[in-house]
This record gives sequence, C-alpha cells and structure tokens, in this order.
Amino acid sequence: MINNFNKFNFNNFGFNEKLLREIKKLGYVNPTKIQLKCIPLFLKGYNILGIAKTGSGKTAAFVLPILSRLLKKSFLQVLVLTPTRELTIQTVNFFNMFSKYINIKIIPIYGGQSYRIQLNNIKKKPSIIVATPGRLLDLLKKRIINLSSIKTVVLDEADEMLRMGFIEDVKRIFSYIKTKYQMALFSATFSNSIKNIVSKFMNNYKEINLSLFKNKNIVPKNIKQYYLYVNFKNKINILMKFLESENYNSIIIFVKTKIYTIKLSNFILNSGYSSSALNGDMKQFLREKTINNFKNKKISILVATDIASRGLDIKNVDLIINYDLPMDVKSYIHRIGRTGRANNKGKAILFVSKKEKFFIYNLYKKLNCNLKKINIPDNKVILKKRFEKLSFLIKNNKFKKNKITFYKNILSKLLKLNISEKYLDLIFLHIIYKNIYLIK
Ligand code: ADP
Ligand code: MG
Repeated sequence: MINNFNKFNFNNFGFNEKLLREIKKLGYVNPTKIQLKCIPLFLKGYNILGIAKTGSGKTAAFVLPILSRLLKKSFLQVLVLTPTRELTIQTVNFFNMFSKYINIKIIPIYGGQSYRIQLNNIKKKPSIIVATPGRLLDLLKKRIINLSSIKTVVLDEADEMLRMGFIEDVKRIFSYIKTKYQMALFSATFSNSIKNIVSKFMNNYKEINLSLFKNKNIVPKNIKQYYLYVNFKNKINILMKFLESENYNSIIIFVKTKIYTIKLSNFILNSGYSSSALNGDMKQFLREKTINNFKNKKISILVATDIASRGLDIKNVDLIINYDLPMDVKSYIHRIGRTGRANNKGKAILFVSKKEKFFIYNLYKKLNCNLKKINIPDNKVILKKRFEKLSFLIKNNKFKKNKITFYKNILSKLLKLNISEKYLDLIFLHIIYKNIYLIK
C-alpha cells in the first residue's frame, strides 16, 4: 500500500465512469499525495512541475487525467518523453493497463527497435506516443511523425531530460509542435539550475513540490540506507558475503561501467546465483529480455549501469547495492528509489572507499536521510546460512544420501568455531559448490 493515504478517493476527480472502473479493478483505492494535488490542476489545463519522491505514483498523476480526457479513438494528442528505452516501454504498458475499456493506440518510439515495427505502429494512428528523444527526432526529421496536433506534452524524469546532452534534442522536438499545448514535468529531483531552465520552457506553471524540504531531498523513509567502507581489492568478496548472508527476492547492483556489469554479473553467475547484466551497449532485444526476466523473477540479481536508475518500477526489488559510487547525490536518490516503492520496504547499501568519504558528507548535507554504517556480514552468519541452505537441500532430496551425515556434522562443528576466512571459502567450494550445484 502506498504512502500518504487520505480520505479522498478517485471518484472526486470527475473521471469518466469507465476509467474509474479500471482504476478500481487494478486495486487503486486512494490517490497518493502527488496524484491528489496534480490531477485537478492537470484536468484544468495548467502547466505543471510535479516533484515527489521515488515510487510515490507520479506516473498515474499524468496517465489518469490524460486518459480521462480521451473518450474515443482520436488523432495524436499526447506526447510523453522519457530518458530511457526501458522507461518508455514501461510507461506504454502503464497507459495500456488503465485503458482497456477504450480503443485507443498508445505506441512506444525508441532507439534499437526496428523501424518496420515502429512504422507499422505509426500507421495505426496512435492517440498517444511515448518516446525517447533520439529516435523520435529521427522520425520527425523524416516526416514520418507529425506532431502538429499535440495538445499535451509530458516530460517524465524531467530534470534528466533537461540536462546537457538531452536538452538539445528535446528543444528540437518542441520546435515541431506548432500548436499551443499543456506541459507537465515530473521528477523526484530538481536542482535550482534545472528550475531556471524549466521557467524558460513553461510559462505560468503550477509547482507541486513534495520532495524537497528546506533544500533537502526527501527520500522514502521506508528505504533503510546503509554504507560501509571497502577497499577496491576486497569489494567483490564483501559483495558475495552480502549476497549470501541474507535472503532477497530481487537485487539491483549498480556499477560504473558497461563492461563491469558483464564482468561482475558473470562472477555472480559463476558463484551459483541467477544474474544478468544490463547496460546501454547491449542489443535492444537482450535489454528487453533481461528486464522481463528480472521482472518475472527468473533472474534475481541485476547488475546495471545508471540506465536502470530512472523510473523503473519493478515489484519486490528489496535490495539496492551501490557497488560503485553514484555520479552524484541525485543519481544516488534515483538508484535507491528502485526499492521501497509504493511504501514497500527496501534496503540500500553503499560501498565507499576511504577516499570517497566526501560522498557520505554530501548525502547528509543534501538528503533527509538516515544513513547508518553497516558491518561486513560475519562469517558465522554466513556459515549459518549455508547450514540452512544445506538442510533445505537435504530435506528436498537434492543431496547424495551418504554424504548427508558427514557434512551435517562438519558444518555443525564449524558453526561453533570462529571460522577464518580461508576455511570459509574452502568449505564453500568443497561442500556447497561441488556437491550441491553439481547435483542440481
Ligand atoms: P514514481 O514515478 O513516483 O517513482 P510510479 O508512478 O512508478 O512512481 O508508482 C510506483 C508504484 O506505485 C507503481 O507500482 C504504481 O502502480 C503504484 N501506485 C501508484 N499510485 C497508486 C495508488 N494510488 N494506489 C496504489 N498503488 C499506486
Ligand atoms: Mg516515475
């Protein structure tokens, strides 16, 4: 259930009945705070700057009022821009989820997908386009898409869309819209410099600010945040200890480089976990397959660059590990925001070297966060976990019978000792890895 519940329900917005029925079917009972504040203004036609923490329901804050205005199949009216292909696809799915009652087309436009598919989609006369800027601009230049009838433009993750690198494309896209249109910008983070840019883009906008308080960013309280000091050399061992010491459904590990997503995920895979890399150099079909496998829990550990840090809403991601330091505090907020969504519990662990200590100070300065130091999981804890795992596998007949008593005895003895690092790894290799994984 989501934060900030209140007495209002969705009936108060004046949505059409069919949309209301869909909302109910999908289990939404009360609007979140950002929805409550944004939706009436959106429906009145105001330009909007919506700032609210990660996982607080910003998508529905624009999707629902947009859908409620679309009563039947119509010409292209709405353009939503997002910074990543994955978020574009997710947003189209979100629109589709709520619009089953009406025969409208909502299509994604993004790089890496074949032109043929996109041309076919465009021929279907969509009412709504969700796009990443590059490919959209490409199709605009080729005069394949015409934005002359657009009435509403949304920039999701707007601070990202307006930063250097993106903003030129966004400006060029806007130059193709000749009509007057309503504009809405959303993000969990907006710096003052970005706000200056916003005022050049939008006139007379209404700002709804639920994520900044006294110049500090509010991060969801339900995300428990930890940090620990690591050396470059022992980072990977420490990571493995965290992976082993607790039970998690889904984990995202953020690293700095594309190449390292693959190296690390292979290492994790070889250690007996299900893991995949996600980075911007991967073929598009593989990116989509990876995200789907992660969503469907076929993969439990995703090793990603920052392309996974913005907007993705994946159920039951309960741990975020910042293996490499994020670029800045903003990036940290979005990375850890992949957990603890819709008021669910989440945990985030930040690895820092002593040299990177400044980042901890920055976090304290810029966030209302409750960051705590955490220790490397104790060898005893890990051994206990292994013992549990072993018992589980024995119970489920995954283990050769003649070895059961032997290993049980060894493990229970070792549990009582203070195990040194060397032994721990030896035990891991010999007992757990060799016997269990080979049998599986
Ligand atoms: P944000 O864009 O603010 O990070 P999302 O729009 O992705 O957050 O929403 C986060 C999660 O909360 C999604 O899974 C969404 O379905 C859910 N959610 C949004 N609004 C509501 C609501 N009113 N009631 C219940 N769940 C909601
Ligand atoms: Mg979002």
